[in-house]
Amino acid sequence: AHSSRVGVFVRIRPTAHFSQDLIECLPDGQTVNIHHRKDSRKPQDLRKSQLNSWSFRVAGILQDVSQEELYTRVCRRVVLGALEGYNGTLMCFGQTGAGKTYTMTGSTESYKQRGIIPRAIQEAIASCEKVFQEVDKRTEHAVSVHLSYLEIYNETLVDLLSSLQGSPQLSSRSMVVVEEPGRGVFIRGLSLHPVHSVEEALNLLFEGEMNRIIGSHPLNRNSSRSHCIFTLHIESRSRTLSVAKYVTSKLNLVDLAGSERLGKTGSEGQMFKEAMYINKSLSFLEQAILALADRRRDHVPFRQSKLTHALKDSLGGNCNTVLVANIYGEAAQIEETLSTLRFASRMMCIRTNPAVNEHIDP
Ligand code: ADP
Repeated sequence: AHSSRVGVFVRIRPTAHFSQDLIECLPDGQTVNIHHRKDSRKPQDLRKSQLNSWSFRVAGILQDVSQEELYTRVCRRVVLGALEGYNGTLMCFGQTGAGKTYTMTGSTESYKQRGIIPRAIQEAIASCEKVFQEVDKRTEHAVSVHLSYLEIYNETLVDLLSSLQGSPQLSSRSMVVVEEPGRGVFIRGLSLHPVHSVEEALNLLFEGEMNRIIGSHPLNRNSSRSHCIFTLHIESRSRTLSVAKYVTSKLNLVDLAGSERLGKTGSEGQMFKEAMYINKSLSFLEQAILALADRRRDHVPFRQSKLTHALKDSLGGNCNTVLVANIYGEAAQIEETLSTLRFASRMMCIRTNPAVNEHIDP
């Protein structure tokens, strides 16, 4: 199997107050420099405090890029790969308010502004629909697509689509992250829903979103306090001569919780507990990425949290992975921007080993 780099892109949320002197995007379209003076809000310290600069290189910087261009430039390759039997993961990372939901789901205001998930559903399922309709007699080619929608909230696994099976929300007691040779990582107990059309799939996505746990947050009232993984499970069967084979793949669409650090957001009580879990799982994610990026280390701590365990294949295994790091380019957010860019540049060092998941029926 050939190894492939994680595709890391930085997307800048448009703002009237974009801080050009702090965030400098070079004309190569791949380098962003940050110039930051600590304590710069106190004018008397300004001359004493030192101006620091950092330089980050990624696969692409997306500024003033439409949803359609983002999808075609960054995501389409991974979706088409999934249709050929390669696992794929598209995820976004960043502080609350930086545009993760806009990037993954999009705005409900207009069709043009729909995000990665509805576009990936559209492309993947529309392409399968042709096969659903005309099963080729000679090769007996047939395709099936199932959907699942998992939420990880305070280290608890929640099935966002379980209520469709007549049972109330399932929690982690009945679900577990497991690994099997030849199958990779999956969630035992998570419900899978067969879909036959784009419309059916979009309805499931909508159902799941309604079941998400949403907390209010001073930075953004609709901020998500949990990690969500929407997955298309694609299976394609065919027969040539007497050999029946099938190819399976998973396309994971991942919306991570806001990466901002505790303390800044004035969380209390339940919100404090949530923020603590989010900080913890994101720092485990960072630890796993550090270990992966450092090829001298042979142990990667995937099992420290449900998130890293569930994403194990996406981070270091059999998968084409793309990360969109969302940043909010206002001066007051510069510390969070720095930490998002650090995360992004570490992800750039990670290599995965995508291979077609082909199985022969005995
Ligand atoms: P997050 O999910 O990271 O908390 P949101 O996706 O909710 O952030 O974005 C915050 C606000 O900024 C929303 O009103 C969203 O519509 C807007 N926004 C974010 N990114 C963009 C963009 N690229 N173009 C236009 N509006 C955006």
